[in-house]
Amino acid sequence: MLTKSPLEAWIAGKTGCPQLVREQLEQYQLKQLRNTVRLAKAKSPFYRSRLAGFAAEEIQDFAGFARLPFTYPRDISENSLRFVCTGQADITRIVTLQTSGTTGRPKRLYFTKMDQELTIDFFHHGMRSLTGPDDRILILLPWQTPGSVGDLLKTALRRMKVHPLPYGPVSDPQAAVSFAQKSGATAIVGIPVQVLAMARHPQGHLLRNKIKNVLLSTDYVPQAICRALEAAWGCAVFQHYGMTEMGLGGGVQCGALRGYHLREADLFFEIVDPVSGETLPEGETGEVVFTTLTREGMPLIRYRTGDLSSFMPGRCPCGTVLRSMAVVRNRIDSFIQLGAGEITLSALDEKLFAFDFILDYKAYVKNDGQQERLQLVLKTVDGKKADFDAVMQSVLALPSLQDLGLHRFKLEVSEQPDLTAFTDGRAKRTITLIRQTHA
Ligand SMILES: [Zn+2]
Repeated sequence: MLTKSPLEAWIAGKTGCPQLVREQLEQYQLKQLRNTVRLAKAKSPFYRSRLAGFAAEEIQDFAGFARLPFTYPRDISENSLRFVCTGQADITRIVTLQTSGTTGRPKRLYFTKMDQELTIDFFHHGMRSLTGPDDRILILLPWQTPGSVGDLLKTALRRMKVHPLPYGPVSDPQAAVSFAQKSGATAIVGIPVQVLAMARHPQGHLLRNKIKNVLLSTDYVPQAICRALEAAWGCAVFQHYGMTEMGLGGGVQCGALRGYHLREADLFFEIVDPVSGETLPEGETGEVVFTTLTREGMPLIRYRTGDLSSFMPGRCPCGTVLRSMAVVRNRIDSFIQLGAGEITLSALDEKLFAFDFILDYKAYVKNDGQQERLQLVLKTVDGKKADFDAVMQSVLALPSLQDLGLHRFKLEVSEQPDLTAFTDGRAKRTITLIRQTHA
């Protein structure tokens, strides 16, 4: 039987509504939005100037809130300290994120002890979707630094009386499979391509019927990877959505495996038109924007994530009053123009990860003015025959490539055996666009 998302009872407790009712939750969110705007205007030099002319008291409904200006990632990388609302002594964790923007300046995010506590509390309740007291959870995320995602997850699992097995990111799939087997892991939390590398390793079958649940996080999750893990291990595959700016955690799927249920007592989410910035109704796809409702160190107001999603209409089959946000598959910058059409990372993901010999890939689109070239560099399973012709056929069947006409388009497939070449410090995969101009 499908059980209701455990986030509902948790959010009910946090918002002071014993029986969670959507209208009461929204009243709570509006009150917290006003509090956040008040705090940010009083303490953050950035928001004092950005929100000059906007009064917290004027926010009476969500339409009123939507009149506030957005916060962009570049605002943080330009001067992150101007966002901080506490004294430096209250900051217990600073995260530096490298950005790929033109300035190349890193983004810094500041958290207080209470901010980190709220994340632990979310993990504690969110993990109940997929774990119980007898579980042993293998954590394939960085955990050695205090306050890192794996460290907070470990603390949360201990609170649940669930046994954490901190391991870290996977560089040697065989060693990770062996550790999972010896330690009696019953569930895994990890990065999609790294968990896939374990499942597709020749020893990966040893975890069949041992691993009952997998939670994938950090990167977009191709459906083809979920299907591959389910088939390899006979497990259920859940997805988590979050980013450092959200305080690491944002939302998690319930047993219905539909959209994510969100951390609605701590974060207010909107979907906006990426071009006009207008808020979009339920069911329409746009950019995910969030506002922190309980953050102390560095509140963010209408932060543009660059991720694309929508609110799913109708109730989740689990019966919760919480909203469901569709699984994020693309970013606004993951559409690459090819002639009159376009190609996305997610379209390539679904084609490529369906091949049982592919573990990861990089994609480059090159244009020399005459011809579009799509270059795919594959990481394949050691010792398994890689059928490049089949890969070519499958990718060429993408409708956007069909329309191009082969005389204007060239596909190249090659291999790169070194997995480290694929994990160059960036958690999220991208398509690289290279425009070649003639001298
Ligand atoms: Zn649900």
